[in-house]
Amino acid sequence: SSGLPGPTRHADFGSIEDSDLSTFERIIGKDYVKTSDIETFNKDWMGWYKGTGKCVLLPGSTDEVSAILKHCYERRLAVVPQSGNTGLVGASIPVFDEIVLSLKRINKHFDLDPSSGVLEVDAGFILEEIDQKLAADGYMVPLDLGSKASCLIGGNVATCAGGVRLLRYGSMHSNVLGLDVVLPDASGSVLKLGAALRKDNTSIHAHHVFIGSEGQLGIVTRVRLLVAPRPTSVHSALLGLESFDKVRQLLRAAKTDLSEILSSFELLDAETMRCVKENTGLSSALSSQPPFTVLIETSGSNSDHDTAKFEAFLEKCIENGLASDGVIAESATEANYFWKLREMATLSLLKDGFIYKNDISLPLEHFYKITEVLRERLGEDVIRVICYGHVGDGNAHINITSKEYSQELYDRIYPFLYEWVANHGGSISAEHGIGRLKKPYAHLGKESTELELNTRLKHFFDPRGILNPYKFFPKV
Ligand code: FAD
Repeated sequence: SSGLPGPTRHADFGSIEDSDLSTFERIIGKDYVKTSDIETFNKDWMGWYKGTGKCVLLPGSTDEVSAILKHCYERRLAVVPQSGNTGLVGASIPVFDEIVLSLKRINKHFDLDPSSGVLEVDAGFILEEIDQKLAADGYMVPLDLGSKASCLIGGNVATCAGGVRLLRYGSMHSNVLGLDVVLPDASGSVLKLGAALRKDNTSIHAHHVFIGSEGQLGIVTRVRLLVAPRPTSVHSALLGLESFDKVRQLLRAAKTDLSEILSSFELLDAETMRCVKENTGLSSALSSQPPFTVLIETSGSNSDHDTAKFEAFLEKCIENGLASDGVIAESATEANYFWKLREMATLSLLKDGFIYKNDISLPLEHFYKITEVLRERLGEDVIRVICYGHVGDGNAHINITSKEYSQELYDRIYPFLYEWVANHGGSISAEHGIGRLKKPYAHLGKESTELELNTRLKHFFDPRGILNPYKFFPKV
């Protein structure tokens, strides 16, 4: 719909017939086979893409997913797994008439071992709901995203979601201990991978292959996850900095001085703060308007200890000139306000019109340079170029906005931007994935041997190429 590059339908795929619908109704029940009112399943969160899927299936168990995939394999019917549909690369919706397999109803099993902190949970639970359930036992999910009220844990695994606390708790690869996965093969094989154990070196840890595989190798139906003790003492502050070099120095100092209690280090540049103010009315809590604002958070278990440590650190940063301005949240309401500013960085952009959304990783020495390069390159032809994100993980969200989609602008941004990133040792997708949006550039910065391995894995797990086609992995 936006004019972004698009594929053509694979000729060998089957088309859904009445007999297929009857088979699905036998497997999951008539109420869970939807052929009308399915527009929302066909539209991505950004509104960039629109699919023409004709059928949505809502299975309630792993066995039902298995029976569906077995049938789809036999009939060569293409399938798109969909969870919260908050993905930002157009990967969770059909391109043509693929069947949408929604995981929303697979949300019954929830089993926490409070002594080890290992949780076994169905893939269809909403991330925030898991977090709320864990609170009763003093735990939390070690993952926090702006989309937490809608995204599902299976979707988080499939995208290898990052978020605002990766700096402290590590990526999904650190915390996922095992998965149940259904394959799109002749028998709809159900793989039970890994264990509800922190240590298990009896196999090759194959569940990691499915983390970040964007629903193209198998369907995740259950997750074994290491959860984190819920902090009882959380502190947040906003700091203003005059240069990006000082942001780098501040990060280093925060890692050293705050060490085990540092839980977030997020960046908002001045143009981001302007966008938030113009489009939402929210002002920064800082008294000045510095070129860079950093949101620092600590999480621990002893408020006296954490407060002393945090305050001493912030005082030192002001005294030694690293930060030019700073404000500590004096209450949970103030802390929530700081986080709201951060979350609004993503949401406020929508009001500008069209967003050329980028999610890149760069070595910190090059982190901010590309924002300046793009501003110079695009000049007055765009509304704004803003940079915010998980600077503590080297992850920049550089977003460019214009009133509406322009092919001419697109061609000036890409592949220039992604080639620049690859040439400076970065990644063109730090956390959102490749999906449909970045498929034309997926090879940048990658060795051909790695791309070839991806193709071989795709062929191994999905011999007929029916699972989430036209996206990251090539057709086999
Ligand atoms: P969906 O969007 O439904 O699916 C995403 C992909 O996973 C698709 O390819 C789909 O086919 C596949 N998939 C879904 N479920 C399964 C399954 N059970 N088995 C196999 N494949 C499956 N992402 C970040 O990493 N960090 C952030 O900080 C962040 N912030 C965000 C803020 C906002 C406001 C929004 C809208 C999005 C943000 N995202 C972020 C992106 C998005 O929320 C994540 O990618 C999230 O993990 C997607 O989960 P979902 O349940 O919505 O999956």
